[in-house]
Amino acid sequence: MKVMKFGGTSVGKPERMHDVAKLITADPEKKIVVLSALSGTTNALVEIGQSAARFDREGAAEQISRLSNHYHTFIESLLASDKARERALAIVREHFEFLGIILRISFSESLNKDILAQGELLSTKLFSVYLEEQGIPHVLLPALEFMSIDAEDEPQLDQIRLKLSDLLARYQETGLFITQGYICRNAKGEVDNLKRGGSDYTASLVAAAIQASVCEIWTDIDGMHNNDPRIVKKTVPVEQLSFDEAAELAYFGAKILHPTCIWPTRQQNVPVKLLNTMQPLAAGTVIQKTTSSKGAKAIAAKDGIIAINIKSSRMLLAYGFLRKIFEVFEKYKTPIDMVTTSEVAVSVTIDNGSQLKYILKELEPFGTTEVEEGQTIVSIVGNQIAETKNVLLKIFDGLSHVPVRMVSYGGSKHNVSVLIPSSYRNETLQKLNLKLFGLE
Ligand code: ADP
Ligand code: ASP
Ligand code: MG
Repeated sequence: MKVMKFGGTSVGKPERMHDVAKLITADPEKKIVVLSALSGTTNALVEIGQSAARFDREGAAEQISRLSNHYHTFIESLLASDKARERALAIVREHFEFLGIILRISFSESLNKDILAQGELLSTKLFSVYLEEQGIPHVLLPALEFMSIDAEDEPQLDQIRLKLSDLLARYQETGLFITQGYICRNAKGEVDNLKRGGSDYTASLVAAAIQASVCEIWTDIDGMHNNDPRIVKKTVPVEQLSFDEAAELAYFGAKILHPTCIWPTRQQNVPVKLLNTMQPLAAGTVIQKTTSSKGAKAIAAKDGIIAINIKSSRMLLAYGFLRKIFEVFEKYKTPIDMVTTSEVAVSVTIDNGSQLKYILKELEPFGTTEVEEGQTIVSIVGNQIAETKNVLLKIFDGLSHVPVRMVSYGGSKHNVSVLIPSSYRNETLQKLNLKLFGLE
């Protein structure tokens, strides 16, 4: 059994949904198909939630009506028969009725999660109507019945495995399952989600849970490129990546994959393929346990980074000191991305500043602290970078006019990271593209 996940642009137009139906019926292997919301929908729902949160009922109503029109037009071209259109219309009505109700009740964070869930519920139900119209047998599996996260917002793979296998056992004869990406239930049983871009995470968790033969992530580009195609002019797809390399790229900003979606497939050793819905024959990228190729493979950038420097002439590097500093970040559930130390100072970076003022207060006894916002981590990822000739030379050559704030090298064999002011990001990615890959 395999998993195929289709992102927002892959289902964002009626003709794309038609293509998806062809792709999922092209081979006889049993499969679970994970769908995102139609492109633009989750952004629209985020805005609706924001309007509702500031009691801007008029604004929210207008946004809801615009989105509703979009769905009405969408089903006209998606479906041919009156019967199917009637069914789709009823589905759209039901979900927009819910959105209408939010204008009349009090706003809360949990209501917001319900709002955000509407996109994936709509896309899967409409796709199911289309499959039915085409006479393609399938079962719609509600993700809210098996996808769950714990009190720390971590997916519960064991629970997911149990619930999913129970559900699948009810449909022994079925070869095609459709389910929602992104949405799940939290520890309180409420509707929640796996954060933006979370459908990749759903696909990876489902693939790990059923021990799939492969987890295919179908998107709008032919695989992981060697650099960010939104910023750099010339980029090329990377044929192969190890799980470790892919995990680093995803975490450090390669938007094609959700930041933490690789661990489930890595844990269960399920290969992942990144494929292009618009160019199904392109090779894409294969992600598996090991990779034969060595050297730098791709560069990614993660913005919104905050650097914190803690200076202490007295205690630094006395044993136990670093632990005490890290404990402060642990207490406020704030992960640290990069660390560098010297005899008199420690610098760390975080990407979530929501607890910063409390963290700084607790760091006061350790010395003086300085905070720099607006930083970007640029990560150069590959296999055995450390042992690859001249890689460091090329990296520093590419960075010669950039005020590098921190360097992290040696933490893993797959990654060299540098911290730079975000204003230098585009120029840095472009220069490294030339120095490391000879691409201008
Ligand atoms: P989906 O809606 O299918 O989940 P996303 O927009 O989340 O698609 O991810 C695909 C996009 O990721 C591409 O269109 C591309 O602009 C962006 N992207 C950023 N970095 C990379 C990279 N290194 N390789 C490929 N795509 C990347
Ligand atoms: N629809 C969600 C989002 O836009 C999840 C996803 O597309 O992966 O973030
Ligand atoms: Mg995505």
